[in-house]
Amino acid sequence: MIKKEILITSAAIDRRVAEIADVISRDYEGKEVLLIGILKGAFVFMADLIRKLHLSCKVDFVRLASYGTGTVSSGKIMITKDIETPIKGKNVLIVEDIVDTGLTLSFLVEKLKERDPHSLKVCVFLDKKERRKTPFEADYIGFDIPDRFVVGYGLDFNEMYRFLPDICEIKDSQEIGEENGRSM
Ligand code: 5GP
Repeated sequence: MIKKEILITSAAIDRRVAEIADVISRDYEGKEVLLIGILKGAFVFMADLIRKLHLSCKVDFVRLASYGTGTVSSGKIMITKDIETPIKGKNVLIVEDIVDTGLTLSFLVEKLKERDPHSLKVCVFLDKKERRKTPFEADYIGFDIPDRFVVGYGLDFNEMYRFLPDICEIKDSQEIGEENGRSM
């Protein structure tokens, strides 16, 4: 069993998700929003967020893959499951579990902009600002966290631990290589 330490408790998560949902609800008041969740990691955050929004919203999901050799990511990203909703003229809010290097979200934002939405914003649950390889700023951020590998609340380590209600830091550093265990 890998050693883990709680970084953000489920109670703190619950409070913060409610705060972000209030801000988003105010910003989009009277408008319809399409939330696009990035699979798999964002599914827990998105499920909580949507139930706290006071908005008329629809949902869709996208799945992305990052290609590279061995455990080193090349930064080349591809859509492996596209959204099913046309977004031209719509208010789109991307929902993601974590922004790290910024490569995934920069890629997706550029791709979705080409489809001419009315507005396009990004909401991330966690932000590891010090790890950026490309400049990227989310519009809504749950928590800023340091450069630690975290699991729980939808985030995995080799597909495990997504079910944990808290955000936990993996303590066995030898288990976590530079890109090891990072699936989207
Ligand atoms: P990016 O580096 O492109 O900003 O993020 C790529 C993906 O890496 C994220 O969508 C997320 O799934 C994964 N990732 C980044 N940091 C962590 C982390 O600390 N824990 C987990 N479980 N996944 C992470």
